[in-house]
Amino acid sequence: MNKRRPLRLSSVVLVLAMVSCATFAGNEANPDAVELAPIPVPVEFSSDMDKPVAFDATATVTVTCPDVGAAAWLVRHFSDWYGKQAPKVVQGGLQPAATAANATSCVPPEGDEAYAIAADSSSGIRISARSLAGVRWAAYTLRQLAIAKRGTFRTEGRIVPTLKVSDRPHLAFRAVHLCWFPEVRPTQMERAIRLAALMKFNYAIIEPWGMYASAKHPWWHWPNPTMTKEAVRRLTAIGADLGITLIPQINAYGHATSSRGCTIKHAMLDLQPEYEPLFEPGGWNWCVSNPETQRVLRDLIAEMHDDFGRPPFFHLGCDEAQPPSCPECRKTPYAELVCKHITGLADFVKSRGARAMIWHDMLLERGDPRWKGYVHHGTKTTATLADTLPKDVIICDWQYSYGNMKEARKDWPTMAYFKEKGFPVAGCPWMNFNAMKPMADYISKIGGFGFIETTWHHLRGSDWVQMYKFASAAAWGTSVPPRPPMYDTPFGNALRLIGHDMKLTDYLDTGHLNNQVPPGWWVDNN
Ligand SMILES: [Zn+2]
Repeated sequence: MNKRRPLRLSSVVLVLAMVSCATFAGNEANPDAVELAPIPVPVEFSSDMDKPVAFDATATVTVTCPDVGAAAWLVRHFSDWYGKQAPKVVQGGLQPAATAANATSCVPPEGDEAYAIAADSSSGIRISARSLAGVRWAAYTLRQLAIAKRGTFRTEGRIVPTLKVSDRPHLAFRAVHLCWFPEVRPTQMERAIRLAALMKFNYAIIEPWGMYASAKHPWWHWPNPTMTKEAVRRLTAIGADLGITLIPQINAYGHATSSRGCTIKHAMLDLQPEYEPLFEPGGWNWCVSNPETQRVLRDLIAEMHDDFGRPPFFHLGCDEAQPPSCPECRKTPYAELVCKHITGLADFVKSRGARAMIWHDMLLERGDPRWKGYVHHGTKTTATLADTLPKDVIICDWQYSYGNMKEARKDWPTMAYFKEKGFPVAGCPWMNFNAMKPMADYISKIGGFGFIETTWHHLRGSDWVQMYKFASAAAWGTSVPPRPPMYDTPFGNALRLIGHDMKLTDYLDTGHLNNQVPPGWWVDNN
């Protein structure tokens, strides 16, 4: 039995994050009562479910925003989410007030994506923001908090608590990195993208793992790929509407197998040996001295970039590469070859109006004592790339607190190093949950580029819950409330809303695991 006590949050004023202070007050009639909170918890959040506010067809949501399209976006999405029970939406003005005139004012903090919400039974529900992005985040906060009116058989409208919310992101670039493995259901990819938007990430980097169905190079994937052009274009459009931009990835240096190294699988060479010259012997790296490699990768970049709607970034991978062994690559110092290879691709990405991103680890020398305890996989020669690559390439510094995933580091010297070298740098955690907020704070402190939550093969179960909750909170500068006992209500609510949006009908697409018990459990082993 879980002995952790539930939070007492009725008539609550939560002031989190920037001041790291939360105040919890109890409900007098029922001291066990708890207050719902969205993911991530807003910077300033005051909520009282003892005073519910109608959020149904009788209610009006007043929007103040200079983007006149924001009210139309709300009308369309309220209709999708709530049908005939959708609240009315009215445009309340174009410019949010600069300062609060009285205690019931609804004034967003500074920033393009900032928003404020005020909801009470006398004034109704008000949203104030400076952009459509801010209005979206406000809508997602309300949506996560809305519950069905009580006392009926079927839903006859919704209520939200009496609310006062003031919120703004800690970092402008807030991404999840998602892996489209052959084993991952396409519906799971869509759920992960939609849920990331609901939790206020604004970018999703999609790594295809041999699943992208290229028309130009149909050999560059496993048989029967599910990441079709139609699927990519559809998800890109969904993401654009929801406020999350999809970014394509190709591993353009190491990891050329499009498979996890521990499996020794190779998405191209296992079934099509004729493409061997494009890769180093064994297939882990691309052969960067072969001009055909650069041609093929440029073709793939152009095709994927177009299918993804020409987003402003393209991730080139480049982590965990090996030294060369082919006779052509051995003729030239490897750092020169690799620099020419990555620079060529980065320039090509730039010619398409986007910026290249790469993982950091080959740019740090393995034996350098400065990086002890931090991820660093380079050699003395590849570490020179930190001086030779174009400075507009975004360095994605993935640090997983190896050896102690619970550790809460405060300083990230590798990120400071890349920043000092003149690169934009993004902090990239994985499941080192306690390190996420300090990492986001550090990136903010050094004026870094952003934050990328990597998920790899753990986008399921409680790992998925924790990764999304801790990373979204870190990127918005707030803390994660204590984990609820037994059942995670905020995550469960949010995930279920996504399922409703997708009109899912398959048991396997519900919850955060496909199955509750192993599918072979009921086989008679006697
Ligand atoms: Zn080679």
